[in-house]
Amino acid sequence: MNIDFNKNNDGLVPAVIQDAKTLKVLMLGYMNEEAFLKTNESKKVTFYSRTKKRLWTKGEESGNFLQLVDIKLDCDNDTLLIHVNPVGPVCHKGDDTCWQEKNKQDYGFISELEQIIENRKNQSTPDDSYVASLFAKGMNKIAQKVGEEAVEVVIEAKDDNENLFLNESADLLFHYLILLKAKGYELNDIVKVLQNRH
Ligand code: AMP
Ligand code: ZN
Ligand code: ZN
Ligand code: ZN
Repeated sequence: MNIDFNKNNDGLVPAVIQDAKTLKVLMLGYMNEEAFLKTNESKKVTFYSRTKKRLWTKGEESGNFLQLVDIKLDCDNDTLLIHVNPVGPVCHKGDDTCWQEKNKQDYGFISELEQIIENRKNQSTPDDSYVASLFAKGMNKIAQKVGEEAVEVVIEAKDDNENLFLNESADLLFHYLILLKAKGYELNDIVKVLQNRH
């Protein structure tokens, strides 16, 4: 790997630390050549600490090491992207990441939708919300809705109206997310089951 350590005339390159599974950015550190070599050798991410002015293996006191998965160099050889499996919380303030985020898989818009569904579940007045009123009707009704939407998907799969198929599929996924939430789960719990089978 041909790393340009001298762009800033300090022998250091920034290293973006990203969780190999969740893809959350965990922290940013700096490496000199020695830190880079030690990281590769020990498989534990080691930085050059600008404060301590020495090599610093993340986790050396706390035990919260960053287990090395792989290292990528950017387009102009001056920044590292390092995939890791963190042993514990990464920030010394106790958070999962240095940006006070949970190190949890993000499913983009689906995660937003799950959050909205959660808010509706906790809503005391179900009057003007379809989702809140569905929660108010209880588990059987919610599960039944999933069954109905599944049947509608089956029907549209046999037909050739793409638009209806896509819409019934969306209905099914939406109601399935509601059912998961009603049971106290979220999509990520199901993904974990699938990963464990893999
Ligand atoms: P650790 O490397 O986890 O054993 O922590 C040792 C010391 O390194 C802490 O007391 C902090 O001063 C510093 N430190 C640990 N984690 C971070 C971090 N994510 N960002 C900046 N400094 C950190
Ligand atoms: Zn660059
Ligand atoms: Zn931090
Ligand atoms: Zn439908």
